[in-house]
Amino acid sequence: MQSWREVAVPTLKYSESIPLLSLTNSMTGLKQSLGLKDTYRMYVCGITPYDATHLGHAATYLTFDLVQRYLRAQGSTVNYVQNITDIDDPLLERAQRDGIDWRDLATSQIDLFRSDMVALRVIPPEHYIGAVEAIPLVVKAIENLAAKGTTYLIDKDLYFSNSVESGFGALSHLDRQTMESIFAERGGDPTLLGKRDSLDCLVWMSQREGEPGWESTLGKGRPGWHIECTAIAYEYLSPLSTDPELIDIQGGGSDLIFPHHEMCRSQARVLTGKELATNYVHAGMLGLDGEKMSKSKGNLVFVSTLIAQGVNPMVIRYALMKNHYREDRMWTNEILETAQGEFLEIVTICAQENVAPTEPAISKIIAALANDLDTPLALQIIMDWVSQSQEGATGGDVNAMRNAMDSLMGLVF
Ligand code: ZN
Repeated sequence: MQSWREVAVPTLKYSESIPLLSLTNSMTGLKQSLGLKDTYRMYVCGITPYDATHLGHAATYLTFDLVQRYLRAQGSTVNYVQNITDIDDPLLERAQRDGIDWRDLATSQIDLFRSDMVALRVIPPEHYIGAVEAIPLVVKAIENLAAKGTTYLIDKDLYFSNSVESGFGALSHLDRQTMESIFAERGGDPTLLGKRDSLDCLVWMSQREGEPGWESTLGKGRPGWHIECTAIAYEYLSPLSTDPELIDIQGGGSDLIFPHHEMCRSQARVLTGKELATNYVHAGMLGLDGEKMSKSKGNLVFVSTLIAQGVNPMVIRYALMKNHYREDRMWTNEILETAQGEFLEIVTICAQENVAPTEPAISKIIAALANDLDTPLALQIIMDWVSQSQEGATGGDVNAMRNAMDSLMGLVF
């Protein structure tokens, strides 16, 4: 699948070495340094393209964009993979409801997603992989799971059996009852007759009447959601045989911790005998009017709508960074208005030649970002620098500040 347009990221002009990035690992709940590597391997779960990019999506992809910017600034490269679940139940259901071909719906929504990402200056993944194009990889992964005796049939559908080796549950730390309840809410089938364990997940669904299917050694059908990401991550992130984990970062919204990432982790451990990721990193959920933003509640705020209303995408980006990435939060007009006001103040100062000293402010911004991407603090440091400049302080280099804000935070003024 074609990724979106490359975003120009300037090299950070900063004379000293920068501290290593720490991120909170959802598995331990602790901040954990990523260590220093030449190349980091990052997999972030992509969209199911049946609706436009809402602010919750934007906040998630922005988070991993900040990770990538920081790692690039320290001189490393990032092999970044993202998938698109371009065949799944919700997509087929929405297409049927709206009387359009599921492929046309997916194509139109992927195009919109790409343009939203470009507008928000999110760096594109190196590999942007659709579920449909990944079917041969998925089939290969399922064949490997089957060879290990961890799959079984219910009618013509194949299920993956969690086991001791998979260490199931160690990521989400939920009790069984909670797992079953969330599994049922998020596309799982814990009460299906014939399952060995209620939490086993579908890996290959045989073709249903009126639905698409692909020929394979598993019969004609389509992949389950979790195995899609497991197979793509394994194939495109070229795990090193010497590393104890397959990849460095597995990321997504916190609603993916269970069941999705728990299932991917479980499958990867059975497939390879290794832990899937060194760091499991999750962005908090966005809400509106006191409720979580979700398709089912119909309370989504779309990036494209805000842009069409004339909101500068840089202001949207700025507003999303006003809160810490892990925090669940409400989106309000006040947040956008505050962001707009602060953004204009920065624009005004960036047009001046004489500004407050920049070197100390840049050092503090870097330290804030290194500490689990503390963007609220980083923006506060920028605003403090703006205040000092407004009060007449001089001695800074405005271009150095512009360079830091762009390379590290994706903000262009
Ligand atoms: Zn995924």
